Order: sequence, then C-alpha cells, then structure tokens
Amino acid sequence: MKFVILFAKFLVLIFSITKCDASIPSVASPVQLLNLSNGTKSDIVYNEEAVRNLFLDPKLEGRNVVVFSIVGAFRKGKSFLMNYILRYMYANYKSVSNSQLINHENWLGDENESLEGFDWKAGTKRVTSGLILWSDVFLYDSNDGEKLAIYLMDTQGLFDHKSSSTDNSRIFSLSTMISSTQILNLLNIIQENQLQYLQFATEYARYATADEEKSAFQNLLILIRDWNSPEEYKYGIRGGNAYLNNFLEIHDYQTKELQSVRRYLRSSFEKINCFLMAHPGKTVARDSSYNGSWSQIDEDFVHGMQDLFEFLFSPRKLTTKKVNGVAVEPAELLVFINSYVENFKSDEMPEATNIYESTLEKQFRILLGKSVDVYITSVASHNAELLSEEDVDALHVSAKSPAMEYFNSKKKFGSYSEGLNFKKELIKTIDKAYEQWKSISINHIRTLQQQRQKTNQKEKEV
Ligand code: GDP
Ligand code: MG
Repeated sequence: MKFVILFAKFLVLIFSITKCDASIPSVASPVQLLNLSNGTKSDIVYNEEAVRNLFLDPKLEGRNVVVFSIVGAFRKGKSFLMNYILRYMYANYKSVSNSQLINHENWLGDENESLEGFDWKAGTKRVTSGLILWSDVFLYDSNDGEKLAIYLMDTQGLFDHKSSSTDNSRIFSLSTMISSTQILNLLNIIQENQLQYLQFATEYARYATADEEKSAFQNLLILIRDWNSPEEYKYGIRGGNAYLNNFLEIHDYQTKELQSVRRYLRSSFEKINCFLMAHPGKTVARDSSYNGSWSQIDEDFVHGMQDLFEFLFSPRKLTTKKVNGVAVEPAELLVFINSYVENFKSDEMPEATNIYESTLEKQFRILLGKSVDVYITSVASHNAELLSEEDVDALHVSAKSPAMEYFNSKKKFGSYSEGLNFKKELIKTIDKAYEQWKSISINHIRTLQQQRQKTNQKEKEV
C-alpha cells in the first residue's frame, strides 16, 4: 500500500514538473537586437554578436525567412500578446531548440500558468527602447518542399514621451524593413498621427518599386486593442477590414497629406488588414500583481487571440520576407540587417534612397557570391585526374555558363546598368578563380602525364 501511495506521489510530481514549463523551453529567451540610447544624441547599440547564431545556425541553411514584428505605443499589451503568440507557436511548430510540439492540443496551456517570454509589465515606466528577437527560430517544412525559418520580434519604447520622434521613426522603420508581417498595435482607434510613422516605409517603397508593380513590403496588420464599438464594426478580421476600408477611403475633402498617406500605404504593402480586438478585462488592464494567466482574461479576448493567431500563423498564411521581390535566407537577412543598422546610425533619419541603394548593392553581392558558387560546384564535380589541358579550358567554359544563367534568372532587381556592372564583375571573379585553379590543375595534369610516360617506358623496357 505504501508503495502505491509513493508511486502515486511520484506520478503527481512528474506531472507537475512537465506542466510547469509546458509552454516555453527554458533555453529560449528574448535577445536584444539593438538598443537606442537615451542620451540627447540617438545612438544605436547593435548587438550583432548576440544574434549571429539566430541567423547562421547550420539548421537554418536553405530556409526562407518569415519575420513577425509588433510595434506601437508602449504599455499597450504588445509583449503580453507576443507571449501568447509564443505559446501558440510552440504548440504548432517545431523550433531550433525544440523538436517536439509543446501542448499541441491546448496551446493556451494551464489556465493559471504565469505568462513568460518577452518582458511585459504593468505600470508606466519604460524598460528600454529597441528591437528584441526571440532567441528560438520556429521551423516549418511544407508538403511541397518549402522550408521556412520563422522569427518573432518585439519592439520597445515607441510613442513614449521620453523617446524622440526620430527614435520612434527608427524603431518603426527598422522593424518594417526587417519583417515580412508588421503588426501595428493601436489603442481604441486608428489615429492619423500614428500613421505618420509609416511614412518612411512608404517613401522607401516608392524608390524600391519606382517602375514595378510589386510592393516593397509584404503584410501590414493593424491591430486595434480595446475595441469598444463592436455593434458598429464586429470584433475580428471582417469588422476590422470594413473599418479599415472606411478609414482608408480617399475623399476630395481630405488634405493632400492625408490623401497621400492613404494612397501610398496601399501600394507599399502587398496586403493590409485590420483586426479588432476585444478588451481583455479589468484584471489584465489594471491589476499590478496579475501574473498573465488566461483564467483572468475575458472570454472575448481569448477567442480573439484564437482567431487572430489562426489568421496570422496558420501554415498557409505564412509570408516569406522578400527584398526587392526576392525571398531571403537567414544568413542573408543578417547582411541586410547590418546594412539597415549602418544606415540608421546618425542623428538624422536616413534618406530612403540611400537605404535602397545600399540594400541593392548588398543584394547584388549576395547574388554574385551564389553565382560563383554555381561555377565552383560545377568545376568541383569533375574528376580533375581525367582531364587534359584542353579539357581544363572546356570545363571552365561549361561551368561558367550555368553560373551566368543563374545570375540572369535570379536578377529581378535593380536597373539594367546596375545589373550589367555586376554581370561584368561576376565574369571577372569567375575568370580570376579559373586562373587560380587552372595552374594547379595543369601542374597536376603534367605530373600525371610524366608518371604515365615513366610507366609506359618501364613497360616497354620489360
Ligand atoms: P507593451 O509595452 O506594449 O509591450 O505592453 P505590455 O505587454 O508590457 O503590457 C502592459 C500592460 O497592459 C500590462 O499590465 C498588461 O496586463 C496590459 N494589457 C495587455 N493586453 C492589454 C489589452 O489588450 N488592453 C489593455 N487595456 N491592457 C492590456
Ligand atoms: Mg513591451
């Protein structure tokens, strides 16, 4: 009998241990991608070292990137929501640090479990400004062979009285440049003055897509928190889009500026949606000792999260990050982030045109590197020992052609003359590589020939 009781106690213990960290693996945490200092001069402190692994992990090679970001005024429940997003993601996707789905059946987890993940707090004090990535990358492999790496990014300090409007624009612009879905978190209604932070994105978009039909950015979701007119526009995506359509309508009586924001917003993003979220209830909004458990959240809000998360995070809804129309891999995204941060390191907001030019340059460099790889792979796949001197030349020619084809097929960005310049550079790089391996190969062939001659000689002598 004693043994049975002990065994039962043991089972309860195991169960409670597994239940404790049922939502988020303990190895995962928020990582500060960059900080904006709070001095008079707006300096960006960029923690490249801290995030390198998130992009350069070999497990992520060959995957296309999906990045969800959330921005908006501080203390409006962004991080709170991100932490429920983390629960949803761990229940539905594997990740770099976790090969098992956690709580697959019940993504919300235990009803009294405290909410972990990104820092979220009651009160009015700001923590820091900046961009924060979740250290774990979610993975998705579709049936048709598409492989994705999904990143989550939180932002801090927007619209705070302490942060300058340049800092706000920086956070907003950087997070829009990096993400494939930008969630704009607003309270109660869409306010015209909050849309001004989208201005940089629309300006950038105008340069990036001057003579093309595609949009510079992928998804924008305007998320209205504490929506309090559900009888006019219903909670959720349908009501939200009806509300948004009404808001974005262009009328003669609007000023030129108001018309312009509306016009360019539509053409800057592939898709713009709006979601109306219910109020979460008094405890969530006011209780400073509240631990974030869902038992204290109003039912409408919990249903809202379910609908919103399905809308954003279902596999068929995942949207890959594209730069100038080209899908981006994790290591490449890091190159672009480095370049964006460099551009934003100044007291003034950078010119959209400068960012566009340096992004394009980086993009051509990436394509050039990949095209050279095609050449090298093709050369390396041949057995050098079987080659004569003429074969070496022929191999070079036959390996160069798929590399050039690759370059031409992938070059979907930049002007004709920029493309031509990089094409010339590619030819030079390949020819230089050829000069290097050619001399080695020819020496190798000569040695082989000499060896063969000696053997022939010996055979004759015998
Ligand atoms: P952030 O600064 O936007 O990241 O805000 P936090 O996520 O840290 O949350 C700030 C406070 O808002 C916390 O006390 C939350 O409990 C509360 N909160 C979370 N979601 C909502 C919401 O939808 N409406 C309201 N009114 N408060 C919320
Ligand atoms: Mg926050």
